[in-house]
Amino acid sequence: MKCATCGAPIEAGMEKCPYCGSTTSYGETLLEEKIRRKENAERQKRIENLPRMKFVSGAFIPLLYFFTLCWYAPIWYGLRMRSLNALNPPHALPAWAVGLYNLTWLAIIILSGWEEQFGLTPEQGKFILNSLLGVATALSMWLALLTRSILQSYAAKFLEGNIAVHTVAPSNVLLLLFGPMYLQYQINNMISMELLAPQI
Ligand SMILES: [Zn+2]
Repeated sequence: MKCATCGAPIEAGMEKCPYCGSTTSYGETLLEEKIRRKENAERQKRIENLPRMKFVSGAFIPLLYFFTLCWYAPIWYGLRMRSLNALNPPHALPAWAVGLYNLTWLAIIILSGWEEQFGLTPEQGKFILNSLLGVATALSMWLALLTRSILQSYAAKFLEGNIAVHTVAPSNVLLLLFGPMYLQYQINNMISMELLAPQI
């Protein structure tokens, strides 16, 4: 091995040329490695200090919906409420609304098809079910919009405001149709973008 600066012969594994003091190619590789390791450690530390949020595989969510007769949607807000409100949002998810949404959905599951067992006429059953569905739909839309605003205002700390709005849950149609299914997908994205840390 020869020094690239002065041409003096140098032993392999020397970081600096003993004659002219310039850094050898081995020394440069070592330095680069050191910088890379430091950057990696800083990145890890930064992620560890981020707020945590649960990651749920995209393929798994429709199954959860199916096996819980869509009750997973209200449950999801109950499960995420604490982590979401810990992001210090301007408007937090109200526990009463999450509770009411769960109760309404549970009532719908219990009542549908069992109207007679509860001593109701088909008309009464239909009226009650429609009312419950109306309440559940209103709550689901409101909670979905609130959750999106929480995620967007949090993302705006990292991304510029208007970029956050275009990055986090930008579609109104998908948000109102799929609610937590769409929102969880956004949270998964935010974890991949290293805006949030995955909950263990
Ligand atoms: Zn040299």
